Amino acid sequence: MKIAILSRNPKLYSTKRFVEAGEKLGHEVDVIDTMHCYMDVTSSRPSVRYKGKALPRYDAVIPRIGASVTFYGTSVVRQFEMMGTYSINESVAISRSRDKLRSLQLLSRKGIGMPRTGFANHPDRIDDLIKNVGGAPVVIKLLEGTQGIGVVLADTAKTAEAIIEAFMGLNASILVQEYIEEAGGADIRCLVVGGKVIAAMKRQGAPGEFRSNLHRGGSASLVRLSPAERKTAVDAAKTMGLNMCGVDILRSKNGPMVMEVNSSPGLEGIETATGKDIAGMIIEFIANTATPNKTKTKGK
Ligand code: ADP
Ligand code: GLU
Repeated sequence: MKIAILSRNPKLYSTKRFVEAGEKLGHEVDVIDTMHCYMDVTSSRPSVRYKGKALPRYDAVIPRIGASVTFYGTSVVRQFEMMGTYSINESVAISRSRDKLRSLQLLSRKGIGMPRTGFANHPDRIDDLIKNVGGAPVVIKLLEGTQGIGVVLADTAKTAEAIIEAFMGLNASILVQEYIEEAGGADIRCLVVGGKVIAAMKRQGAPGEFRSNLHRGGSASLVRLSPAERKTAVDAAKTMGLNMCGVDILRSKNGPMVMEVNSSPGLEGIETATGKDIAGMIIEFIANTATPNKTKTKGK
């Protein structure tokens, strides 16, 4: 197969691993810088141009779209879909997963466990917003934050109100969430590929830190999932329409709670923690699944 990795940087761990694993399995793999693609959308034969030439036909693309370039990145993925190229994650599913509120709304409709969450742009009654998720302590999140930035724990209602007012002064949309204290600053990252959890790790925040993101100094270790956790991760991936994703789960006294579903999960932490060839497993999934014109978003 001819596979393109849509990535801004060929030196990133995950990008390198996809190239290595794909070539090892006998595929031809190119890294294409998403932001340097430009598109011909006027003709009846859609194409993607790159460095002065039309790109050759790829059987599959693996989008690695950074959060800050979601809009342009997903339009490049969509263009490949229009050309009949298989994308492991479809453009609409990537856009959907980038909006925390949209994701939680969809997950809640399916009855998937999640922390009690309120959403607001400019409420008149901040006190009620806080009370409605069970009162302080609460976690306040910027709708468009990543890697734990813009996620704040407020111990008291007074602090929470002050933080919410500050975010509102900046015209930022926020989520207010029940704080799952019993998670103990840890979460479980489940990597779901093709409707199965192929790997999982526990991430523990640095001492004194409730956020477990590896970018915030968290550390990863092996974990055994309960059947309920496995099911929650698989259901969340299915609800979001993602073939490949990282599902972050908190262990709460009321069972597994999904915090977020990530459509470009990093491979470094989880390959290191589990010792598995995850890039290889993903390439194998693509080789078994990719058929031309398979995406539902091709505009029919
Ligand atoms: P990001 O998308 O920026 O990583 P998250 O919503 O995943 O933001 O939050 C970052 C981290 O903060 C999570 O991995 C988790 O460890 C912690 N966290 C987030 N929400 C809660 C919550 N409601 N209760 C307890 N811990 C939380
Ligand atoms: N490295 C990110 C972190 O801080 C996780 C990225 C990912 O796996 O999606 O946890």
